Amino acid sequence: PSLNFKGWRDNLEYHRANIRNRNVEANVDAAVEAYEQYVAQLQRVEQLRHERNRLTDSIKKMKDKKGSEFQELLRQSKQNKTILQEVESQMPWVEEAMLIEGLAIPNETHPDVPVGSEEQATVLQTVNEAPSFCFEPRDHLAIAQPNNLINFRSGAAVTGSRFYFLHGKVALLEFALVHYAINFMTQRGYEPVTVPDIVKTRVAESCGFQPRDDASQIYHLDQQHSVGQAELCLAGTAEIPLAGMWMGHTFDDSELTKKYIAVGHAFRCEAGGAGATNRGLYRVHQFTKAELFVISPGDLETSCGLHDEMLQDQIDLFASLGLHFKVLDMPTEDLGAPAYRKYDIEAWMPGRQEFGEISSTSNCTDYQSRRLNIRSRPTQAAPSSFVHTLNGTACAVPRMIVAIMETFQREDGDFDIPAVLEPYMPHGEGRKPT
Ligand code: AMP
Repeated sequence: PSLNFKGWRDNLEYHRANIRNRNVEANVDAAVEAYEQYVAQLQRVEQLRHERNRLTDSIKKMKDKKGSEFQELLRQSKQNKTILQEVESQMPWVEEAMLIEGLAIPNETHPDVPVGSEEQATVLQTVNEAPSFCFEPRDHLAIAQPNNLINFRSGAAVTGSRFYFLHGKVALLEFALVHYAINFMTQRGYEPVTVPDIVKTRVAESCGFQPRDDASQIYHLDQQHSVGQAELCLAGTAEIPLAGMWMGHTFDDSELTKKYIAVGHAFRCEAGGAGATNRGLYRVHQFTKAELFVISPGDLETSCGLHDEMLQDQIDLFASLGLHFKVLDMPTEDLGAPAYRKYDIEAWMPGRQEFGEISSTSNCTDYQSRRLNIRSRPTQAAPSSFVHTLNGTACAVPRMIVAIMETFQREDGDFDIPAVLEPYMPHGEGRKPT
């Protein structure tokens, strides 16, 4: 990875404050110190190699191979060889120490991002009215219960707790949501792709996930299932394979911007996710998710503009479904390491009687591309040679199901399907009774 050690060194005060504001475990002073040690070690190796070449040359050129001067050159050459070997053998450790410190340093933060924890989020806008009911609204599990449309019992028997089967109208709702989201977003210029759900741990790490340190969130595969010995894990989001798709690539100016929509299965260990607020489909271990991913030229003006466009695409999609939601500019402590800025959308869930997060979109600027080595040839418009990557949720199915079932529930215990989804439901299913 090409980390920005020089940038950190030139702006130490900013990065110290940035790490404090984001509340992440990192030490920019230690990273810069480790970098300087690496550079010094590299210079020492080069110096010793230069000396070795000079000595070899002198030994070759010397006519008198018996004199004391020749013996002295041989002695120096032997000594040089021993020291060079030792210094070279230390290089991998010095480099590793530098990378461990460097990889922990979070992205910079957009100046408008509010400082602090989740409660400090800025509400950018509220869309649609909250539904009103002439009866006590139920939650999605209660609505599904009479026809056993959401089946956690079989999920627990077949896999474990928080796994589920969807039946009938709710299963069709999943397919309709995915199909609708894909059609909606392809009309907005996103190219549909399919992606693997299993990824190399190294790729997940390069995207800013920590499968090794945070085994509480990511499922690892046993080594015997690994392909070509690489360590593998289940993708927590299609963002990982989408970002990995272009690793090591250099884009021509004319190839950018790239916009993708992929449907993947997201796998989350969600350790510690028990509790009433995570009831039912709200927090599960496996779910279907349509994910947006954008590769932008590496200048902030362009990627911030694209980020706002992605947010608008999400807003338009959720508004078309008739959901009541608010759009949030997330504060520093909620950004994790990769995001430069993050917008969340929270929809009103009448059964829960609260807003619940249904989507998130982040501009990761060059955080992932530096680690995955994805570049663009520099142009006037994009001075950096690293592209910017952005990701966003188009449709995280279970929470969309929660919001839809609870928002459009009827007094008779059933629920309506949003009009825009009706063409995606097989004949008769989900249509309003006439
Ligand atoms: P994330 O990739 O963590 O930003 O999540 C993207 C979206 O997926 C969130 O906005 C939620 O709507 C949804 N989501 C995240 N985790 C879960 C989960 N464990 N169960 C159901 N939906 C989830």
